[in-house]
Amino acid sequence: MGCCDAPGLMPLNEAINQLLNSVKPLTYTETVGLELILDRILAADITAPINVPGYDNSAMDGYAIRAEDINASNKTLTQVGKSFAGAPYTEELQAGQCVRIMTGAQIPAGANTVVMQEDTSADNESITFLTAIKPGSHIRKAGEDIRLGEVVLHKGRRLRPADLGLLASLGLAEANVYRPLRIALFSTGDELRLPGQTLDPGCIYDSNRFVVEAMLKRLGIDILNLGILPDDKDALRSAFEDAASSCDAIITSGGVSVGEADYTKDILDELGKVNFWKVAVKPGKPFAFGHVGAAVFFGLPGNPVSAAVTFHQLALPAIQKMAGETVEPPITVQATTEHTLRKHPGRTDFQRGVLAQLEDGSWQVCDTGSQGSGMLSSMVKSNCYIRLAADEGNIEAGELVDVIPYDRWIS
Ligand code: AMP
Ligand code: MG
Repeated sequence: MGCCDAPGLMPLNEAINQLLNSVKPLTYTETVGLELILDRILAADITAPINVPGYDNSAMDGYAIRAEDINASNKTLTQVGKSFAGAPYTEELQAGQCVRIMTGAQIPAGANTVVMQEDTSADNESITFLTAIKPGSHIRKAGEDIRLGEVVLHKGRRLRPADLGLLASLGLAEANVYRPLRIALFSTGDELRLPGQTLDPGCIYDSNRFVVEAMLKRLGIDILNLGILPDDKDALRSAFEDAASSCDAIITSGGVSVGEADYTKDILDELGKVNFWKVAVKPGKPFAFGHVGAAVFFGLPGNPVSAAVTFHQLALPAIQKMAGETVEPPITVQATTEHTLRKHPGRTDFQRGVLAQLEDGSWQVCDTGSQGSGMLSSMVKSNCYIRLAADEGNIEAGELVDVIPYDRWIS
């Protein structure tokens, strides 16, 4: 049975596409200095205002020469000056002359080659060149790294450490970035208690909010954490109203299936337009998506692994798009599975695994044991998903499977 044959289940890719098609990037931007811009998302392309390097310069400590001055009958030139990084030699080099030059220093006018110091011998100002000359060697040409006018970073890029260096090398002290998304987050359930509180009979600790909040923090989201809400219509209604009036999105966990205390659906039918999906994904399945006022709503399932996986696979790409970020597909590698993997056809399965490289260089993945959707320990032990396509059944040990190493949001 293919996933599309599973009655009432929406294929994962279709759910992701629908999510991406129904959210829009932020329109507000701000200018931020380099010291605070790491991980922010560019709101405009960056075009190089200068060449880097700005001038031809030496890649070695040595001598700048005119290559044509050295030949079979002449191996010696007269040193007429020095060029240091920041203090160039300003005359034009004449026939028979050379200039002592340091790494990064400007190549004097007239010179076309640098000979490294180790290939010379000096007798006061008289410099002898001991090896054959390769014209043009050891010169870093103006613009060889970045050319004036080139687009060096594109709109939608989340800025990395090296990007900050590149902006600095262009003399840019600031850039235009999207303002951070503001997202409200709460857990629902009468059984939920805060870590640190006494656990009453039949209760559990709220763990989902900590997982999702941690991923939102890594994404640079401005979080409005509304804590735990009881399974109570009035409390839920006012939380949704408050959150929708001040946030770009609302994320909840629990209450999106069809249990008797799952009130989220009733409230959202009143306040907004929300679809309750059964997505063909495991762990996961119940997932709600829609709008409450101007805010986008993501309703995650209550089971902890389902909440983490649906947040990561479904909500996160949409949040990245809303934040202005270009969404990149995950890196997938192939590895042989050490164990037989149990699976029923029908849903895309994100089993948790440990990916390791064997001595022969090949990649092997080992599942983390029980894969129950409530077993958060299966995520803690893992470093990757083993992604099994919806229509697949059991996978035998030794077969190749698709593995997605955890990205920076979840690892
Ligand atoms: P629900 O979707 O509300 O029916 O919840 C499904 C399962 O997830 C139940 O066993 C809940 O107790 C559990 N659950 C719901 N919310 C949380 C949470 N925030 N942290 C940990 N477990 C939860
Ligand atoms: Mg519940």
